[in-house]
Amino acid sequence: RIPVICVDGPTASGKGTLAATLAHRLGYHYLDSGALYRITALAAGRAGLALDAAHEVAIAALAQRLPVRFVGDQVWLDGADVTDAIRTEEAGMNASKVSALPAVRTALITLQHSFRQLPGLVADGRDMGTVIFPDALLKIYLTASAGHRAERRYKQLISKGFPAILDNLRTDLEARDARDSSRSVAPLKPAGDALLLDNSDLTIEESVNQVLGWWRG
Ligand code: C5P
Repeated sequence: RIPVICVDGPTASGKGTLAATLAHRLGYHYLDSGALYRITALAAGRAGLALDAAHEVAIAALAQRLPVRFVGDQVWLDGADVTDAIRTEEAGMNASKVSALPAVRTALITLQHSFRQLPGLVADGRDMGTVIFPDALLKIYLTASAGHRAERRYKQLISKGFPAILDNLRTDLEARDARDSSRSVAPLKPAGDALLLDNSDLTIEESVNQVLGWWRG
C-alpha cells in the first residue's frame, strides 16, 4: 500500500500548514481536500445553484467532473485561477454547506483517492482518517482552542489583504465547526486510531517535529 498520513481537525487548526510542510519534508504528494469542497461550492455558485439539499444532485454532478487542476500553490477551475477566490471566509462557509450533502461527498471520493501516488501522500481535511483513507499508516487529529484558531485565521486574512474582524471570525468558525461536527455523513471527529495533537502552544516547527517523530517511530 502507498503510505498515507492523514491530518484532520477543525477549521483553522493549522492542518494545511502542517500537512503541506510534512509533504514537503517527506517528498510526498499533498491533498488539500477542503479545497475540493471550496471549488465545488464556487462552481455551483457560478452555475447559479443554491447550495442546499434541493440542488444536491446537480451540485454532486458538478463535483463528479470538477475541471480542477493543482499547479504548485495555484488552483485552477476550468481554465481560471481561483487560488484567492476559494480562500475567503465566505468560500469556506459555502464549502461547509455543500460538504453536508451526502451525494457531493460521494462524488469527490474517486478524485481524492487519485492523489494517493508514490512515494506517498499527506492528506488534510475532516474525514481523511475516518472515511477516505481508513487504512492510513498515521492519523493525526489536530486541534487548538477556538481563540487561537480565530487569531491565526485573522492574521492569515489580513496578511493577504482581506478584510477581517476577529470576533466575527470566531463566531463563524464555531458555527462551521458545529455544522461539520453535527452533519449526518462523515461528521468531524477523530478516527479511533488517530493521535491527538493540540498545537495551541506549539510553533509550526514543533508540530512538524512531533509528527515526524511519530512517523519515524
Ligand atoms: O479545510 P477547509 O477550511 O478548506 O474546508 C472547508 C470546508 O469544507 C470545511 O468547513 C468542511 O465543511 C468541508 N470539508 C469537509 N471534508 C473535508 C475537507 C473539508 O467536509 N475532508
